Amino acid sequence: MDSRQTKFEETAARIEDAFKLFDPSRVALASSFGAEDQVLTDLLARSGQPVRFFTLDTGRQFEDTYRTMERTIERYGIRFQVFAPDTGELEKLIAERGPNLFYSGIDHRKACCQVRKLNPLARVLSGLAAWICGLRRDQSVTRNGVEAISWDAEHGLHKVCPLFDWSEDDVWSYIRLHAVPYNLLHDKGFKSIGCEPCTRATRPGEDIRAGRWWWESPEHKECGLHAAAAGVSGV
Ligand code: SF4
Repeated sequence: MDSRQTKFEETAARIEDAFKLFDPSRVALASSFGAEDQVLTDLLARSGQPVRFFTLDTGRQFEDTYRTMERTIERYGIRFQVFAPDTGELEKLIAERGPNLFYSGIDHRKACCQVRKLNPLARVLSGLAAWICGLRRDQSVTRNGVEAISWDAEHGLHKVCPLFDWSEDDVWSYIRLHAVPYNLLHDKGFKSIGCEPCTRATRPGEDIRAGRWWWESPEHKECGLHAAAAGVSGV
């Protein structure tokens, strides 16, 4: 067995171990339908555990992302809980700061992430024992402290990152090996995919997350969802 196959099996075992620590019905995968999340969806579907899947629909995502969601539902026969921003908060934000506020300063960008992502996330996480994320250490300078299992003090539950030690090559090897559906934007140079107005394709040699909030400096490139584990002060 080659070393990569061994790594895949060790990761599946890592996930099984997590289910011994936490009641599977109180564990959920946070998916944005990026490559890492698709790997985790495949691994979790194979595990047969009654884990929940959820996504945050910010209202500003790419059409390709919604198509990926549809293809994932068809492939695995799973349901995603979809959490949207609070209507009143969103209307107030846009009325006061405009629809594309994120380009006019980091405070405005973080306010948008707060309303469209963080506040819905807080609703999802209340009541869960642990959430599973596709963070990897080598994704960016903000993620090199990611652990397999850590306490997420900001949200008051455990965070499980089974791919914490995977490389980008590991991710794509797994996707090819198991014919996992993926966001076709990855074939157009998008390595990390978020909301459409805040994501661009990356150029050869650029950091994986260089296309996210590209107008900001690298140490600010988190929306606040993973601030605690990443060791940065977030939204
Ligand atoms: S990524 Fe951009 S559009 Fe999406 S919530 Fe954050 S600032 Fe708003």
